[in-house]
Amino acid sequence: ATPTSIMVGTGKGAESGILIKGAEHLEHAHKLTTIVLDKTGTITKGQPEVTDIVTLAGMAEAELVRLAISAEKNSEHPLAQAIVAHGQQQGIALSEPESFTAIPGHGIEVAIEGKRILVGTRKLMKENNIEYETAVATIEQLELQGKTVMLLAVDNQLSGLLAVADTVKESSAQAVAELQKMGIEVWMMTGDNTRTAQAIAQAVGITNVMAEVLPEHKAAKVEALKQEGKIVGMVGDGINDAPALAIADVGFAIGTGTDVAIEAADITLIRGELTGLVAAIRLSKATMRNIK
Ligand code: ADP
Ligand code: MG
Repeated sequence: ATPTSIMVGTGKGAESGILIKGAEHLEHAHKLTTIVLDKTGTITKGQPEVTDIVTLAGMAEAELVRLAISAEKNSEHPLAQAIVAHGQQQGIALSEPESFTAIPGHGIEVAIEGKRILVGTRKLMKENNIEYETAVATIEQLELQGKTVMLLAVDNQLSGLLAVADTVKESSAQAVAELQKMGIEVWMMTGDNTRTAQAIAQAVGITNVMAEVLPEHKAAKVEALKQEGKIVGMVGDGINDAPALAIADVGFAIGTGTDVAIEAADITLIRGELTGLVAAIRLSKATMRNIK
């Protein structure tokens, strides 16, 4: 390989917002057969907004929101930020929690005014023996609209649902179509539930979906695809994507994402759009053509 064409390629990349950490990544990107895309913050904008609030067990809406924002104020999760922002818009005052525990991929457990509050997935409720069967139809209906539904329990009683929706980035569908046209197999991987994941995947033209993947299992999923003989590129923005970015043949970080993801990745897409991924692969192809 000629170092000159690699240098030219790296320079061209930088001009178009593609930061390549080493020559070998530019040499590998054109070989990718499979791309795995994280959902939140990668395909979507990662700025979810509260769309629906369902009160249960006689709880008033303002009280439900007050408990939810007080519980979520210490969480880094984008879903938590959506809930807190909603409470601020409504001018609802929050309480200071006495304790806070994050349960990655599931939700949070918080003590507020002596009450035990759980916010998170159905699995979190199930693991705590909290009954939610009566709410399943409502939850599924919201999920079919691509919304993420969080369940809130107070002292082991399901007391409400909070649904949030995240907007798909304008260029995501086009980028997916272009990757597929290049013969690349595209996957979505997310910790979110299957129904929500499928709805978002469908909106951008993805049929291969891995949902309900716990943060600690994302890297193993990428490794499994590699074991099948695929050459895998992973694209993500979050702390929970970092191990998967590191293990992929080429890891791409969304430039607007977390520093941890950027550090773990080989290539950073500064503009935060998946069209940058398409451009990076095209650049790799063009560079390798010049070398041969
Ligand atoms: P993603 O891969 O979409 O970033 P995560 O693995 O971080 O998802 O989380 C998976 C699911 O766990 C979320 O969709 C949500 O239902 C639940 N969850 C995670 N963190 C929180 C939180 N702070 N509050 C409520 N629910 C949460
Ligand atoms: Mg993400």
